[in-house]
Amino acid sequence: MQILVINCGSSSVKYQVIEVSDGKVLVSGTLENVGGNVTYENALGRVLEEASEYKIDAVGHRVVHGGAYFTHATLIDDDVINRIEACARFAPLHNPANVAGIKASRLVLSNVPHVAVFDTAFHSRMPEHAYTYAIDSDISEREGIRRYGFHGTSHAYVAQQAAEFLERPLDELRLISLHLGNGASACAIEFGHSVDTSMGMTPLEGLVMGTRCGDIDAGVVMSLLRTGEYDVDGLDRLLNKEAGLKGVSGISHDLREVEEAAAAGNERARLAIQLFVYRARKYIGAYAAAMGGVDAVILTGGIGENSPSMRQRILQRFDFIGLKLDEQRNSDIRLSTNSHVALACRDISKVKALVIKTNEELMIARQTSGLVRQINGQHLQAKSIPIAVSGRHIHLNEETFRKLFGADATLTHYKDLSQPGQYACVEKLNLIGPRNRIDNVRILGPLRSNNQIEISRTDEFFLGIDAPVRDSGRTEGSAPITLEGPLGSVSLNEGLICARRHIHMHPDDAERFGLQDKDEVEVAITGGPRDLIFGDVLVRVHPQFRLEMHIDTDEANAAEMDQGSDGSLIYTGIEGMSARIRAKG
Ligand code: AMP
Repeated sequence: MQILVINCGSSSVKYQVIEVSDGKVLVSGTLENVGGNVTYENALGRVLEEASEYKIDAVGHRVVHGGAYFTHATLIDDDVINRIEACARFAPLHNPANVAGIKASRLVLSNVPHVAVFDTAFHSRMPEHAYTYAIDSDISEREGIRRYGFHGTSHAYVAQQAAEFLERPLDELRLISLHLGNGASACAIEFGHSVDTSMGMTPLEGLVMGTRCGDIDAGVVMSLLRTGEYDVDGLDRLLNKEAGLKGVSGISHDLREVEEAAAAGNERARLAIQLFVYRARKYIGAYAAAMGGVDAVILTGGIGENSPSMRQRILQRFDFIGLKLDEQRNSDIRLSTNSHVALACRDISKVKALVIKTNEELMIARQTSGLVRQINGQHLQAKSIPIAVSGRHIHLNEETFRKLFGADATLTHYKDLSQPGQYACVEKLNLIGPRNRIDNVRILGPLRSNNQIEISRTDEFFLGIDAPVRDSGRTEGSAPITLEGPLGSVSLNEGLICARRHIHMHPDDAERFGLQDKDEVEVAITGGPRDLIFGDVLVRVHPQFRLEMHIDTDEANAAEMDQGSDGSLIYTGIEGMSARIRAKG
């Protein structure tokens, strides 16, 4: 499939035609000075002339801000354009240009689908504690004030490339990606998801950038306003256009020029570089802590890909987290289209350092073709699925079970569960937290290789423990908990999780829905007293599974559902990533 990728800025149109099957770029170029005498429609007309020997199957548009509404690539219609325009409040320089490009493209290429791919979408599932600003919640909610994050297409792409390079599944990796270019951002990617990122409601927050200041005390803004020398636009310019490397060095936004001046002894240029590096290092430390560990740090963007000295400054002295930079390797790295991933650490380094050439256009082309394929190939399919509400429960390994119940004890069958081979046991345990205890929590059989205690958010607050939301079976680095049984108590260092909502599926069902193991889908509960869409639902496919969606008691309460509710599935996804399942409560 051949995709035209369009990136419209306030005065330029960048374009590429990409053959998605092999990622080959067939045509590429940039048209400058668009928006004045040259209209976006003129510019897109010229792009089409350039690409005239290729049959364009669809157009993928980069859109900077998708707000809270757009969580994945979306087929463009008039309503979508209106919503993108509504997000322009947070990206006044970018979204209007994106919309102008979309409108012009739809006029000149009216017979193919147009898809919007959002910079914010990859971050749309950040946990609430990562995206919330600590201000009055009513104001945040009313004004849509929260952290959205950007560069998502780049972070998602380099994370995929890192997993391929390391030959490990993305959903087992904790990655820190630093996109360091004129715009710069850091992203904590836990098991394939962005769980935090340094840019916020706008692309101003976070790292030091070419002309943007990054993190700054909001008090600075008020203090400058009070001087009377600045109005809002003046401050906007000061912090977005005159700050960062340019503002501190007084020389340039371009790192190469700042590095040259620093080497020649310019103190402000040196400070600009030190600030840039120090901020990046702080985010690596913060995100390693946020994820409870890290498997690889990725550097990308113009600076990350091309400046060995900046990479060395940023990645040195991280031995304490297990990252051992290899200075020679780092300085020898030369990325190209054919060699777009390189290792910058020693082989023994537990945490890998990777330098990856980003490719946002390819990612946009892939997401566009994926969505178009689904729309062309899939008809809405409906199928009833049962939804089960899981109460808190405990899975034990043999060692813990014997400590709590005795060397000769065996689990006592109480009743079968819906998934074949699984059963509830007569045995129960008490959970002891720092704040409270929960008694009589049932053990589920059979015994497993790892302990796993699944509770709801409400239980967490009651017990006084922060438990991460995890897929079943993924207990490494989860929360500690003390279990009390007939023979005493056992304190586990890890094992306590809030189970991620999921659907068990037999391979036959998966085939019917066009889904695969580990796909993520959305589930809409409709027809009950409170309609609700659950995002981030994991699909788990196994020959021993029976079709059933599992949610916890908090989730069921939120949708006012009962045990035994039924649902129906409707597919609208891209490459399984965003299949939408409509479940009737
Ligand atoms: P981007 O916005 O990703 O194109 O990145 C632009 C930034 O990358 C600018 O600050 C450039 O100075 C920097 N950059 C590009 N090439 C090099 C290089 N060879 N050495 C140092 N910095 C570079």
